[in-house]
Amino acid sequence: MHVWARRWQVTLTWARPADSPWHTTRYVTMVDTPVQLRELLERGAADPLCTGIRHESVREMVGTAPQVCLGGGHPLEGPSALRAARDWIACSCGGHIVYRCAQCPSEVIDPVLLVDCVPAFPATDALPGRVDRP
Ligand SMILES: [Zn+2]
Ligand SMILES: [Zn+2]
Repeated sequence: MHVWARRWQVTLTWARPADSPWHTTRYVTMVDTPVQLRELLERGAADPLCTGIRHESVREMVGTAPQVCLGGGHPLEGPSALRAARDWIACSCGGHIVYRCAQCPSEVIDPVLLVDCVPAFPATDALPGRVDRP
């Protein structure tokens, strides 16, 4: 199964290529952990020639796709008659892929729904009297 991982894109800028350890006016990199992010930001802050440090968090789906349905262990990939149909559900976490098994009624939601997920199921949106979660 996949999980959503938070990573950070960090952009360091310098006025002249000669000022930069990378000999370029702009260095863009990705870091995986808050510790790596802090190290890079501190490195930029400690560089008197560095003219700008920007960072933004991005979400990436990491891991592997599910292989079989949970109902009967049917493979989700294969010839088109046997392959699971796929849908995408937008969600507060980043979104989920829904595999609908072609051979039984089971569905696999990848990544799994977490307690703080707020998925935008189209069918739920259409129901009258639903309660909006904050
Ligand atoms: Zn199945
Ligand atoms: Zn979610």
